[in-house]
Amino acid sequence: PPPFLSVRDLSVRFTTEDGVVKAVDGLSFDVEPGRTLGIVGESGSGKSVASLSVLGLHDPRYTEIGGEIVLDGQELTGAPESVLERLRGNKVAMVFQDSLTALSPYYTVGRQIAEPFRKHTGASRRDARLRAIEMLEKVGIPTPALRVDDYPHQFSGGMRQRVMIAMALVCDPLLLIADEPTTALDVTVQAQILDLLKDLQQQTGSSIILITHDLGVVAHTVDDLLVMYAGRAVERGTVREVLGSPRHPYTWGLLGSMPRLASAVDEPLHPIPGTPPSLLAPPPGCPFHPRCGFTGEVAGERCRTQRPELPEGRGAACHLGAERQLRISGERTRR
Ligand code: SF4
Ligand code: MG
Repeated sequence: PPPFLSVRDLSVRFTTEDGVVKAVDGLSFDVEPGRTLGIVGESGSGKSVASLSVLGLHDPRYTEIGGEIVLDGQELTGAPESVLERLRGNKVAMVFQDSLTALSPYYTVGRQIAEPFRKHTGASRRDARLRAIEMLEKVGIPTPALRVDDYPHQFSGGMRQRVMIAMALVCDPLLLIADEPTTALDVTVQAQILDLLKDLQQQTGSSIILITHDLGVVAHTVDDLLVMYAGRAVERGTVREVLGSPRHPYTWGLLGSMPRLASAVDEPLHPIPGTPPSLLAPPPGCPFHPRCGFTGEVAGERCRTQRPELPEGRGAACHLGAERQLRISGERTRR
């Protein structure tokens, strides 16, 4: 089947007081029907910015978007607001990290779940309320008929996240964009929420984009993985390929700084030295070169002057030859 979402050469530029920020630069990816794409990267890598562009959520006065976004056969770049409006909460829905800001404190959860349903289906108040109860039940809220008239503050953090998922899924969207959906939760609740998303996906066949800075979160949740750095995609593959034999030095760094779940206590973290570059004035060549341990050793001058491209399909945007990438990757995973 054709990809449900196809993004080609996406660029997002923000005009700020200090100049133009290239938040996303030349990004291409596909999301297949029924599959989950993980997008990982540090904060400021462009992962949220890219997915918000799919929904047309950037302020057009300060944002310049280039490239192509095609969703279910429909071109979205430059589409009028009325088209995007019909899409949001209907074909495409979002779950955010912070349920306290995403949910209104002034309305019952039932009303907030019912509202997008009424808006997109024209259902009656009564039917929408029944639908809200059904959704609360689907996301695992006990005694949903008794909770439907409660307010967000009457729920725990994990339960509020479930409510937000109910709200996002109420119109049976074909694509769910989940931006750090579990970051604010403790580890046990995180796992429950991720399981819930997977279960619901199996029932509905929808596609998911899961945005996170946490490789531990993607390992058990996603099918395909895109690693972003400084507004660019630096590695892509199935989750097994990328986590099993990572090829980009940045991914090696990310994996090295990931606590292993079983030994989180005694295994020290090795954060990648240095900080991501300013997107006001990104470095020439490979954006990772100021932090890359392999710059001088192998690829040298090319890293500092020539921008490595990410190939289609499995691969990494890096001047180290594929052979070299595989060898170093093998040495690292054996350790
Ligand atoms: Fe490192 Fe060079 Fe590869 Fe960039 S292109 S990640 S600087 S080796
Ligand atoms: Mg973000």
